Amino acid sequence: MKLDFSATGWARVIAGTLGGTVFCIGATLIVDSVRFSGMTDAELSSAIIVDILLPTGLAVPLLFLLLYKMRQLAIAHHEISIIASTDNLTAVLNRGAFKMLVDAYLQQAMRQPAHNAGAFLVIDADHFKSINDRFGHQEGDVALKLIAQTIQTSLRQGDIVGRIGGEEFGVFLPKANLDQAGIVAERIRRDINEIEFPPSARTHALSVSVGGAAFGGHTAYDDLFRVADKCLYSAKAGGRNQVIFQRLAA
Ligand code: GH3
Ligand code: MG
Ligand code: MG
Repeated sequence: MKLDFSATGWARVIAGTLGGTVFCIGATLIVDSVRFSGMTDAELSSAIIVDILLPTGLAVPLLFLLLYKMRQLAIAHHEISIIASTDNLTAVLNRGAFKMLVDAYLQQAMRQPAHNAGAFLVIDADHFKSINDRFGHQEGDVALKLIAQTIQTSLRQGDIVGRIGGEEFGVFLPKANLDQAGIVAERIRRDINEIEFPPSARTHALSVSVGGAAFGGHTAYDDLFRVADKCLYSAKAGGRNQVIFQRLAA
């Protein structure tokens, strides 16, 4: 794990150290000032110098070390949470993180009716077992990465994509209606069908079947998944390499 400090990270550590040190000097001077009235000028100058130098000497190294370590921990925490939520083959979200984000959107949508719409896609690679059988598992992994990349490039910022099974991906399109989601799903299907596989020698047409569910009211992840999965089943039964959608009953 790389704990790289950005310029902002260093700026925060330095600003915190300086701010904390000034605060310590100020607090020392205020506390010590009760003694100042009875001092000669020479005693006052030396008291002020001590009140400035002592907190500076103690606070600068201690605060710097403390803030530096805290920043390192924050970076490590951020990197660990990315690793824990990412599928390590395809680099999209893993199943748990995908479900968590979709659930969070659906919960928020309950409080904000304006966000109370969207669509859910289940995308399953067709005859993937035969790709492994024909080209080997490693090339199969390459195909999965290409499929994940193609899905990602078809989406807008804010759309959510995750690997929810071996050769199965979930996509959540916030605020998309049935027509918009249908266009996205069809574009994903077409683009995947045009992938060069194996790379630079298109000898096998990859394809996916897509089941979709669009909603416009309160709903839950499991209900969306159930309807989209039923549509996926119909797309497989209908010959694969196709998109089938259904609108969830409000
Ligand atoms: P269908 O069109 O009905 O979906 O057929 P399919 O062959 O894709 O479906 P099936 O469920 O029979 O097989 C899924 C295959 O996906 C079998 C499994 O080995 C492969 N698979 C799952 N995860 C991975 C993976 O991480 N890497 C590779 N290379 N293959 C995987
Ligand atoms: Mg499959
Ligand atoms: Mg499958």
